[in-house]
Amino acid sequence: MKLARDHLVSWGLSQTEQLRLLDTITVGVMVVDADLVVYPWNRFMQEHTGIPSPEALGERLHDLLPSSRLPIVERKVRNVLRLGSYEFLDSRIYGHILPIRNCDALGSRFDYVQLSWTLVPFHGCPDGRPRVCISMTDDTHIVEAEQELLRIRSELERANRIDSLTGILNRATVLATLEDELVRAERYGRCLSIALMDIDHFKQVNDRYGHLAGDEVLRKVASCLDEMRRRSDALGRYGGEEFVAVLTETNLEGAIVAAERFRRVVEEQAIPFDQHVIRPTASFGVAEVIPGQAQEAALAIADEALYEAKASGRNCVRAGTPPARTE
Ligand code: GH3
Ligand code: MG
Ligand code: MG
Repeated sequence: MKLARDHLVSWGLSQTEQLRLLDTITVGVMVVDADLVVYPWNRFMQEHTGIPSPEALGERLHDLLPSSRLPIVERKVRNVLRLGSYEFLDSRIYGHILPIRNCDALGSRFDYVQLSWTLVPFHGCPDGRPRVCISMTDDTHIVEAEQELLRIRSELERANRIDSLTGILNRATVLATLEDELVRAERYGRCLSIALMDIDHFKQVNDRYGHLAGDEVLRKVASCLDEMRRRSDALGRYGGEEFVAVLTETNLEGAIVAAERFRRVVEEQAIPFDQHVIRPTASFGVAEVIPGQAQEAALAIADEALYEAKASGRNCVRAGTPPARTE
């Protein structure tokens, strides 16, 4: 330790213009050896760590700023010394390496400063021993901005896929899923069915209890259907009070069973609104897709079956008749 302080004196570092220059920059600079013994560090380091440069001199980083991440720094420092190469530590990958408190008055979400490190070989010590110069930039604001962008992007992606009222897939997304499943079913010779469902006399709910009540019914019906569906199936809002389920690996018989299960769970709902309890029912049209069939054709068959269900008194399931298979 004493040796290091002597070095400072013998180097005359505090007198040089270069060192004064180092103290004016908003980048942390320190010189270390393989054991992470600190030689000089500049004013940036002093101000951020609260440890004056003379106190840091000759001390190990482990003692000055204990951190579980120092072995990463040791590895990088050894690489620089061994290979003479540059090394980097990106705060986006490693987070904060040194426990330097972030005192950002603007209310940063990081407790610690996010420093990005560049480690380069340094041969300027009078004893001639190679050391490593580490410079650190404060990337806290950049990391924050990047994370905020990622958050907004994932929110936008979600908004693009999800129906905002019910929280299930929107029409475009569920139809895109159907298209993918049509291709998969044909390619691998699997069965695939669809179920269209439409809440019965929904207009009356709006007329009697108001649109907010209607919205609440849509949310509850969507949520019970969503809970009931197999995780491998997709459910989306097809239109106003209409939903569509894409039933993978399911033939017509299975689709009728699934739709009957959906029908029953809707019928079991008792939805409180104001002083009222609303009891919805829904009608269902199912169709098994035949290989190579276009999406519109499959949906048209399910729609016809749904129309039949409505005509048969509602709150029931009807199956569409698929066109004859061509061998
Ligand atoms: P049916 O049993 O024959 O299906 O009768 P219905 O009243 O359910 O069908 P109709 O097509 O006559 O009415 C559908 C209603 O759904 C009319 C429309 O105002 C309402 N609706 C569509 N989207 C929404 C929505 O997002 N919120 C609310 N509250 N109502 C909606
Ligand atoms: Mg309708
Ligand atoms: Mg309806």
